[in-house]
Amino acid sequence: AQTQMRELQKIETIGQLTGGLAHDFNNMLAVIVGSLDIAERRLERGRTEELGSLIRNARDGARRAANLTNRLLAFSRRQPLTPEVIDPNLRLQSLPDLLGRSLDSDVRIELKLADNLWPISVDVGQLEQAVLNLALNARDAMPAGGTVTVTVDNAELDQAYLKAHPEVRPGQYLRISVADTGVGMAPEVMERAFDPFYTTKGPGNGTGLGLSQVFGWIKQSGGHIRILSEVGQGTTVCLYLPRYTGKERPAQEEASRTQRPTE
Ligand code: ADP
Repeated sequence: AQTQMRELQKIETIGQLTGGLAHDFNNMLAVIVGSLDIAERRLERGRTEELGSLIRNARDGARRAANLTNRLLAFSRRQPLTPEVIDPNLRLQSLPDLLGRSLDSDVRIELKLADNLWPISVDVGQLEQAVLNLALNARDAMPAGGTVTVTVDNAELDQAYLKAHPEVRPGQYLRISVADTGVGMAPEVMERAFDPFYTTKGPGNGTGLGLSQVFGWIKQSGGHIRILSEVGQGTTVCLYLPRYTGKERPAQEEASRTQRPTE
């Protein structure tokens, strides 16, 4: 009876998820179809005013829809990844610029890169998306503003942690930590934070897909994610990506060493 109960709850949850998703997706399609309908009618009558904005509406709707499906693909770990070997000391320098463009000026971004970081093999676009998701959460946790600190260092997971999490592979990882001094997470929030569509931000403010996207991607990359949080103190989310130990040299180095053939 216990198992049956759990199965029923699972089905219930899946029902809620797909229902919510289909609803959101339909809203986006409605915007696209509606804008294109109006544009077509205008065109038929030879009226070209506002065609640009109608087309932009349709395109924005399509982008939002693609964004939603990408997040779900990431969560279900079915996203096609294009990993490349990178030297984090070189490639992660630009993170503050990237984050700065998406966050308000209320929040400061501080990047601390340790020396001699281990190379990793990673889909850089997905890595940037993940850090951005974490930084957006950090910003939301600090309504009065503050600093989002991104720290990158080499790390080995401690024995106590590995004992408590037997699914995590021991070894050497590049650790990317995103820390805020915001509201923090209560234990019951932390427990559900990775669930898709789980949000405490209210409709229209949160999708509940940020952390689930990060979770899916990091698992697909052979990595690991850890949340440390204290209510009223702040939150640190750590991403662990396995150290790359193969033969291939980091892409940046490779590019500067290999001369391009002249055409
Ligand atoms: P969303 O940001 O759309 O709500 P997420 O999956 O990114 O979705 O986060 C789920 C929930 O986890 C948030 O609604 C919030 O309650 C909590 N959370 C995530 N990051 C933080 C953080 N840095 N500080 C406090 N709470 C957080």
